Amino acid sequence: VAKDGGRNGFRYFTPALQEVAQTRMRLANDLHDALPGHQLEVHYQPIVHLASGTVRKAEALLRWHHPSRGMVSPAQFIPIAESTGLIRDIGEWVFQQAMAQVAHWRAVHDPGFNISINKSPVQFRLGVRAHAWPEQLHQRGLPGDCMTVEITEGLLLDASPEVSQQLAQMRQAGMHVAMDDFGTGYSSLSYLHRHPIDILKIDQAFVRDLGPGSPTLALCKAIIRMAHELGMQVVAEGVETPTQRDLLAEAGCDYGQGYLFARPMPAEVLDGWLRERQSLPASND
Ligand code: C2E
Ligand code: MG
Ligand code: MG
Ligand code: MG
Repeated sequence: VAKDGGRNGFRYFTPALQEVAQTRMRLANDLHDALPGHQLEVHYQPIVHLASGTVRKAEALLRWHHPSRGMVSPAQFIPIAESTGLIRDIGEWVFQQAMAQVAHWRAVHDPGFNISINKSPVQFRLGVRAHAWPEQLHQRGLPGDCMTVEITEGLLLDASPEVSQQLAQMRQAGMHVAMDDFGTGYSSLSYLHRHPIDILKIDQAFVRDLGPGSPTLALCKAIIRMAHELGMQVVAEGVETPTQRDLLAEAGCDYGQGYLFARPMPAEVLDGWLRERQSLPASND
């Protein structure tokens, strides 16, 4: 007991904030080497069409294999990449990876395959040329609709003319725009019809507590219905159980993404996963 008390006492006096700041500074320093040092990798998580069980979409999720700390979560290093400006090169690299990958999956798996990439508000602010991504797709002979850009509510909260222009350019080129983490931001619903959004991604916070008769089920149903009436499709994030999947499918949710179906994985692993799945009789998992 005394030992525990002592430890707690010690912890109490640890300048925790300073430690956090120090870790952050070290990570910021190390992050400069991540791209040239080949420490970054893009993983892909399948997005499943709930009614048919088919997979022709995946989300690109960045991974950092730190040389001494092991895997560092994007939740931890993306903010650092943003504050250091490194997000510019890293985001460009993610796009290049995803573009090569979607070309491959369209060739060998499904000609309509689509990959989602996350683009943070800071990336929009740092972006120089709005048409850069559509142009690169075009140069590679890929149609715009092979890619979806995931944005967050915060981007539209005080969307500058430049942001609106970038969104419009991507949309004109056929790229899809998805609202990520829907329901967790602070913005009002009014932005939904003022900006071109194709897909709503219901945040996993709503999916987590889904049960028959639960309040979150009512919320999910309302979101799905509203999205459909506005002409959008719906993806549920963080689907972990068959019950959640069934309730969402019953509520008319179009797609599900989550550990129930598959975790994010390296491209070559998803390659095998897609092949195996294709050869199996249709199933909803
Ligand atoms: P997000 O875009 O909302 O991505 C979904 C997150 O949920 C991913 O976390 C994914 O691994 C996780 N997830 C998927 N299925 C489940 C599930 O069934 N249960 C639970 N508990 N979690 C699940 P991850 O990969 O750690 O990424 C965290 C966030 O980092 C992303 O959230 C996104 O905002 C950001 N991020 C990741 N890659 C990039 C990137 O390339 N660029 C930018 N700007 N942001 C990125
Ligand atoms: Mg996302
Ligand atoms: Mg999300
Ligand atoms: Mg998120």
